[in-house]
Amino acid sequence: MLYNAPRGTRDILPDETRLWQYVEDKFRSVCDRFAYEEIRIPTFEHTEVFLRSVGETTDVVQKEMYTFDDKSGRSLTLRPEGTAGVARSFIEQGMSSNPYPVRLYYLLNLFRYERVGKGRYREFNQFGVEAFGSGEPDMDAEVIALADLFFAELGLKRRLHINSIGCPECRGEYQKLLYEYYLPHAAELCPDCQQRLERNPLRLIDCKVESCRAISRSAPRLLDYLDEDCRAHFDRVLEFLRSLGIEYTIDKDIVRGLDYYTKTVFEFVSENVGTQGTICGGGRYDTLIETMGGEEVPGVGFALGVERLLMELEAQGCLPELAQYPDLFIALQTEAAGAAAAGLALELRRRGLRVVSEVCGRSLRAQLKQADRSAARWVLVLGGNELETGTAELRQMESGERLTVNWCDAAAVWQEIKENKDAN
Ligand SMILES: [Zn+2]
Ligand SMILES: [Zn+2]
Repeated sequence: MLYNAPRGTRDILPDETRLWQYVEDKFRSVCDRFAYEEIRIPTFEHTEVFLRSVGETTDVVQKEMYTFDDKSGRSLTLRPEGTAGVARSFIEQGMSSNPYPVRLYYLLNLFRYERVGKGRYREFNQFGVEAFGSGEPDMDAEVIALADLFFAELGLKRRLHINSIGCPECRGEYQKLLYEYYLPHAAELCPDCQQRLERNPLRLIDCKVESCRAISRSAPRLLDYLDEDCRAHFDRVLEFLRSLGIEYTIDKDIVRGLDYYTKTVFEFVSENVGTQGTICGGGRYDTLIETMGGEEVPGVGFALGVERLLMELEAQGCLPELAQYPDLFIALQTEAAGAAAAGLALELRRRGLRVVSEVCGRSLRAQLKQADRSAARWVLVLGGNELETGTAELRQMESGERLTVNWCDAAAVWQEIKENKDAN
């Protein structure tokens, strides 16, 4: 029987895994320098967690969640995004009594039943950060600066697009305006938007259906209707960005597809011709924790799609060469040399070298071919003669240079290889 991975999932094989580890390490390193700490949360949550936070009228909740009843009849959902679970944990673990701000980051696999396409999977990965406890524009600027430094260290060409969607107060007024704007066009809207019009007109702005987009082009934008507080907050964020040297474009069209955002929303967009698109999205969510039953704690964060990021890094030629070669390949001339080879290999690994020794019982000729294919830096052959004399020939593959070493003295072998490695 032949099995395939389910549609929208994929295997990541070692050549590609190295690239994943590269971006993961970089992300952890940047987060670490901003003093953010990693949180790991469950893969599934009670469905209610996402209904309350992400919002019942969003596409994510209405169409894309993997929701199922477990054997005792509880409704559970595979996490479709990271913030809701982190917020649930923040409340449940009493993090509101930690010193503020609580700075967290995560690397998560997520699940959405979506149309599958280039770089779009049903199981996908995001890196993200969440900072809880500060409502100040300083915090927005810090989170944006973190994302920007991450992209800068990867060498990615990108531009920040930023907007404000205000607080519930300014939004209430604006929703009325939106409703009045769309109402005469109601018949031309897609069926989803016809429903959204009554329940949450803000969602109409980011509908992807072309007929809706045409109507939305001249709809009023929230940025023009902010109250004084929200306007001042936004202006301060922009001031920070200018002083940090982070270029931005004010983009009134950004609303983000999730209900919990307030005030600042932003996206990083690729600047590469041909692959433009959003690589990271985030914003402030000052009412989320309260909505989910916690105290009134402001928050701000972002998430970025790792699959999309890797595609973009490749398109921009930013991915490093990460092939890994053995430092040493130990070949066997006789079966009896196997134990000695394994012992030497283990000793060298203890000292930090990447070593392979023959374990497939191949002929010496086949082993040397394998050593060549693996691009091992050095080869050492052990056989009857070497076992008797305690010396062996260490051959450097590239230069053909040969050294006689006392192979029983792992430290000496290590020294030869290491000196050469450091010199390169
Ligand atoms: Zn406001
Ligand atoms: Zn629509």
